[in-house]
Amino acid sequence: MNTNKKAYIETFGCQMNERDSEIMGQMLATADYSPTRDIKQADVIVINTCSIREKAEQKVYSLLGRIRKLKEEKPSLIISVAGCVAQQEGERLQARMEHVDIVIGPQHIYKLPELVDKAAQRNKPQPAVDLSPGFTIPPYSPPSPAKSSLKREEIGAKPAYKKFVTIMQGCNNFCTYCVVPYTRGRETSRPPKDIVAEISDLAQQGAKEVTLLGQNVNSYGLVSDGSLQYIPFPELLKKVSTVDGVERIRFTTSHPKDLSPELIECFATVEKLCPHFHLPVQSGSNRILRKMNRKYTIEQYLERVEALRQARPDIALTTDIIVGFPGESDEDFQATMQLLDTVRYHGAFSFKYSDRPQAKAIAFDNKIDEQVKSERLKILQERQNDISLQRNREYEGSVQLVMTEGVSKNGDGQWSGRTMSNIIVNFDGPALFPGQEVQVRITEGLLHSLRGVIA
Ligand code: SF4
Repeated sequence: MNTNKKAYIETFGCQMNERDSEIMGQMLATADYSPTRDIKQADVIVINTCSIREKAEQKVYSLLGRIRKLKEEKPSLIISVAGCVAQQEGERLQARMEHVDIVIGPQHIYKLPELVDKAAQRNKPQPAVDLSPGFTIPPYSPPSPAKSSLKREEIGAKPAYKKFVTIMQGCNNFCTYCVVPYTRGRETSRPPKDIVAEISDLAQQGAKEVTLLGQNVNSYGLVSDGSLQYIPFPELLKKVSTVDGVERIRFTTSHPKDLSPELIECFATVEKLCPHFHLPVQSGSNRILRKMNRKYTIEQYLERVEALRQARPDIALTTDIIVGFPGESDEDFQATMQLLDTVRYHGAFSFKYSDRPQAKAIAFDNKIDEQVKSERLKILQERQNDISLQRNREYEGSVQLVMTEGVSKNGDGQWSGRTMSNIIVNFDGPALFPGQEVQVRITEGLLHSLRGVIA
């Protein structure tokens, strides 16, 4: 057994991709590839890609260009491209980047060790990108300590106290700007018993916070033929909350149309469910929401926001917004600005619209001028920054239960952690360990974080 083989994984994009990279890292570890953060040491390189934004895709191609030299110096190096760009580009990617050995879509990550094996035997190229309508996520099997002596952290996983667990993948919604239904296929859910078994194992290994992941977690329960096979998401949340050792539960991402009264009720009744909801709105204009095929009106969205705040008054809301969608008028943009003032989100991820291959909006006319998009984005981000700062100042003087993450990145010897509402707090205090919960008195609200002292 050659134990000197090394795997380097680079991840772009969302938390789903981060979790997929963890899974690929674990599989490569059981195939005797130990992780490295030095790309020059690698025998296998996996680039896990994202095509949601044009910029992320460009970064992938530029990284692949730089890696070409490594392959010239070490011809046995195996280069694998995974994720949405791999799915979208398929064999075209290998034609454009002939030094790439493996192109693997999100449904096929479980085949990675087998494909690496074939590539090592000089069987090239290795594409695995067909999307199966009957796709199911492989059953959960607990990691075998005999097969891998590596700790999860060593293979690039999240720290032991904080874990991400995929509960479903794919999407049935076909928003007109998005490629996910074309790159990850239709929604398919994991059986609840697998999810609970995985979370119980993680809790035994020290996990205190779990985030349930999927493209549309609140329609959890569907399988790939579109039928509801498992319990609905609120029931799953209740089951997960019974796992001993888990203290905080989060989930992402959600579609507003699937936000049910039962799920809203969970924020009042499931104690471990953290009071933070990322609820992507995308636009404040009903006309644009229709063109985006979002399947809700802004009035329905606001009703749900109100209901969430009634169920859990301290809930922090965050969102995603696209500016400059084809045909977005000044009036539409003003409706989005109005929405910011109405909801007063704790934070927002905002982006300029960009055409994505395969997405329907690529064929829409009335594309918005780049400069107009940039101006709108600037105006929107400045307003949201004001609101985020005000929101964070509202915490001043309060005492928050903070889960310690580690030493603060601000370099002044403080600790860093997160409130239940998912806001970063940097605070002074005695020696702590990651995952430890402490009461922190908030002394200052800043734009992206809070400052405090142990209460
Ligand atoms: S809900 Fe819409 S934006 Fe979200 S993944 Fe599905 S198609 Fe994409």
